[in-house]
Amino acid sequence: MEETHHYASTTAADDHYSQAPGTPEPDVEFLTSGGRCIPAHSTILASVSPVLENIIDRPRKHGSSERVIPILGVPCDAVSAFVRFLSSSRCTDEEIEKYGIHLLALSHVYLIPQLKQRCTRGIGQRLTTENVVDVLQLARLCDAPDLHLKSMKFISNNFKAVENTEGWEFLQDNDPWLELEILQFMDEAESRRKRSRRRREEQKLYLQLAEAMDCLEHICTEGCTNVGPYDIEPTKKREPCSKFATCEGLQMSIRHFATCKKRVNGGCVRCKRMWQILRLHSSICDQPGSCRVPLCRQFKLKMLQEKKSDDARWRLLVKKVVSAKAISSLSLPKRKREEMKETMEDQGIKNFRL
Ligand SMILES: [Zn+2]
Ligand SMILES: [Zn+2]
Ligand SMILES: [Zn+2]
Repeated sequence: MEETHHYASTTAADDHYSQAPGTPEPDVEFLTSGGRCIPAHSTILASVSPVLENIIDRPRKHGSSERVIPILGVPCDAVSAFVRFLSSSRCTDEEIEKYGIHLLALSHVYLIPQLKQRCTRGIGQRLTTENVVDVLQLARLCDAPDLHLKSMKFISNNFKAVENTEGWEFLQDNDPWLELEILQFMDEAESRRKRSRRRREEQKLYLQLAEAMDCLEHICTEGCTNVGPYDIEPTKKREPCSKFATCEGLQMSIRHFATCKKRVNGGCVRCKRMWQILRLHSSICDQPGSCRVPLCRQFKLKMLQEKKSDDARWRLLVKKVVSAKAISSLSLPKRKREEMKETMEDQGIKNFRL
């Protein structure tokens, strides 16, 4: 009959302990700092927590019937929420919001992975400049790498505000190693950002070059607006092609290349660029026999003659443009490739109708 006393001492929140018919009587209790006793079933506790199983089994071995498990230094209601989770595997968002930090610590100490996961996620969604330093330290103590990383990122992204909190001040005074770790993380995050920005810009360049390669082939085989092969009539419909922004620029460069007095060796930058584009085309062209792009075969021959000049940086550029070309062609309808009957003898720039 002693249990009745304990029931009376619990709050309404523990109502689910009111007996359903056939459920065994609670046979252990948790003692909280507030002096509250929260009843529970030893078999349930033992089945969800190996740590509690140990604690429950220990007195049995000594023949003692003492069944009180103290959980002190944690708010009583947090302990209630914890005990409720042990028997129902559930807790409310409100409980996570109010006691998430305590529940995380308890789930770590008593080895309850489901609760730990729930807390880690819940706390991670509720990070603030005020609590993030504490959460970071707790995540470290409780071995919660996801939450640790999330806190680090949060601090890194909101450093100006976090720097002014009491938590940060406390950290600076008491845990200079963690402070250093955070500053290092921010430094690395910054260089990660720079690296990916650079990679994005590079990728953009490769895509532009890949598009230029497509346009070059298209100008040299079908012709586009006013520029095209000398032996093919300009298309009746003078509508610009789908990539006209690139195509038009290329057409102007071709026109310039054909008429420039300085040319490549005279130090003309525009001609040099056009020269590189033609060389790039030749490097990726897989049909040099029937290709109508100027200088394609000449470049191929030259490459065969001087293999060593095929330097690593150029090869890398070619590789990147080829893969960018593959990427961009996935999103575009395949252009019909016209089979060229004749092999071109002279594919110099003078073959152009300009
Ligand atoms: Zn075009
Ligand atoms: Zn020029
Ligand atoms: Zn070619």
